[in-house]
Amino acid sequence: MQKIQNYINGKFADPQSGTYIDNYNPATGQVYSLIPDSDERDVEAAVQAAKKAFPAWSGMRSEDRSALLLRLSELIGKHLERFAVAESIDNGKPVWLARTVDIPRAVSNFHFYATAALHLSTETHAMGDVAINYTLRTPIGIAGCISPWNLPLYLFSWKIAPALASGNCVVAKPSEITPMTAYMLSEMAVEAGIPPGVLNIVHGYGTKVGKAIVAHPEIQAISFTGGTKTGEEISRIAAPMFKKLSLELGGKNPNIIFADCDFEKAVKTTVRSSFANQGEICLCGSRIFIERPLYEPFKEAFLAEVKKLKTGDPLDDGNWLGAIVSRPHMEKILHYIDLARHEGGKILSGGNRIQAGGIHAEGYFIEPTVIEGLPYDCRTNQEEIFGPVVTLQPFDTEEEVLRYANSTSYGLAATLWTQHLTRAHRVAARLHNGIVWVNCWLLRDLRTPFGGMKASGVGREGGFEALHFFTEEKNICIKL
Ligand code: NAD
Repeated sequence: MQKIQNYINGKFADPQSGTYIDNYNPATGQVYSLIPDSDERDVEAAVQAAKKAFPAWSGMRSEDRSALLLRLSELIGKHLERFAVAESIDNGKPVWLARTVDIPRAVSNFHFYATAALHLSTETHAMGDVAINYTLRTPIGIAGCISPWNLPLYLFSWKIAPALASGNCVVAKPSEITPMTAYMLSEMAVEAGIPPGVLNIVHGYGTKVGKAIVAHPEIQAISFTGGTKTGEEISRIAAPMFKKLSLELGGKNPNIIFADCDFEKAVKTTVRSSFANQGEICLCGSRIFIERPLYEPFKEAFLAEVKKLKTGDPLDDGNWLGAIVSRPHMEKILHYIDLARHEGGKILSGGNRIQAGGIHAEGYFIEPTVIEGLPYDCRTNQEEIFGPVVTLQPFDTEEEVLRYANSTSYGLAATLWTQHLTRAHRVAARLHNGIVWVNCWLLRDLRTPFGGMKASGVGREGGFEALHFFTEEKNICIKL
């Protein structure tokens, strides 16, 4: 059985504990590899390696750092199919999705930040003939990057790339549920010639490795993507140490469909934004609000499209949905479907675990599920489910739908469907979300600020925002 290893100081290493965690293939429910059960000793070794590498890496010309990161990007692209298959097996996502979204995005993340860092500039502020101020931006030192399981390499590289490009050394931890492509990334880092100690990847549980990264006094910035509860715990440890913190957390995103929308596009895209990656994308919309005159026709067309979606073996390109990432997560989603029933919801489609056959008999598959008849403020409509489950609700006025949309503690993303230009601007401006898509979904420009409001996070990633996060500003005032 394949044994994943830590990557510390440019070398592959077993965990100090000598113990390993089982890694499950969610489509079969079987253990297929082993993950290092690392602890604070491995994190300490990674920090010492990063500390040693920092002067040379931060002092390197940005063109030279850029060239190394471009090489890393090229290598992931060269092995795209291998990465896509590995991601699919590890996470349960359809391989077509990993091939067209996850891995190409990891390639882009390194490419984007390798080049963006070349354009990072600072400002001067002249005070007439009295003085001149200029600002220096320097890398922070060692950055801790912690990522979740839903878009494993995509989100891991989204943090690591800007941290490295701006001259920091990194101690990173992928999710213990999906560690495989992070391990493959460490192999690529060796091949790309990234100097030892610049990038360190420590595998294991959040409560051991993640916590040790957050608490380590020599790690000065933490970039975290994951659940809101975990974000709270991280803040409790990191805030009193005055660490820089970027937190990308959970969501409960609204889709708002006005009666004047482009009907076909709205239906097709809403199916995608509901069930892509089994609904396990933080940007998926799980609450669909439909203007009353369109409610019945939209429901009918939406259900007809959902019925066409095939769920099964993620390695079979004929399946649109794959497996849920883990047994506990599958159980959590099924529990929420039961809760929806208890709260008075009517299941219009799905609602059950799929019992597949053959080698997939123990796999974690759930039918895409559509529910109606629930009030906007019940638990099903307020809590993050993070699976293939959506609710439909009618509304009559803009005021009403804004109240529904903004009612949760989250504020990550929203989609808005209307052909009415001024309404689009008016409603978008009043939504409490960090990202609003009008007549589209998941259309991403890597230069734009990315992140959530309220319990969906603190800070923004993307573009120069991330490069600013991973650098420290200093103003120098010179009296003339
Ligand atoms: P999680 O919070 O359980 O874990 C995320 C990472 O944090 C993992 O690597 C985990 O090992 C680690 N971790 C766990 N406890 C820790 C601790 N005490 N200290 C430090 N690290 C710790 O989240 P998950 O279940 O992996 O991911 C799903 C969540 O991520 C959902 O809530 C989803 O909305 C959110 N998410 C948000 C975004 C975004 O951009 N806002 C993107 C993707 C996922």
